[in-house]
Amino acid sequence: MLLIECPWCGPRAETEFSCGGEADIARPLDTDKLTDKEWGDYLFMRKNPRGVHREQWMHTQGCRRWFKAQRDTVSYEIQGYETFERPLLAVDSAEANTQSTAQNKAQEGKAS
Ligand SMILES: [Zn+2]
Repeated sequence: MLLIECPWCGPRAETEFSCGGEADIARPLDTDKLTDKEWGDYLFMRKNPRGVHREQWMHTQGCRRWFKAQRDTVSYEIQGYETFERPLLAVDSAEANTQSTAQNKAQEGKAS
């Protein structure tokens, strides 16, 4: 079982949370122009990486707030947490924040 740290409530058991899947998926702006395949990809296709993954979690049995976590899918280690108002906070070091910034820039580059 994972020990997940809610940014507002502190460390809690995984059973108190609901996983909302992959984070940072942006809804296409002009959905009328999408093909069925593109719309299907947006709705259903998700990454399943071996390694670092950004996920959305909700503290269902606590404060009922959403936040994002950066987790290694191999070791299950959670590397940092992020709320929608606050950038990534590393669990152990400031490195994760730097990685997140670099990752966000890379994703922005792909989107445009
Ligand atoms: Zn909470």
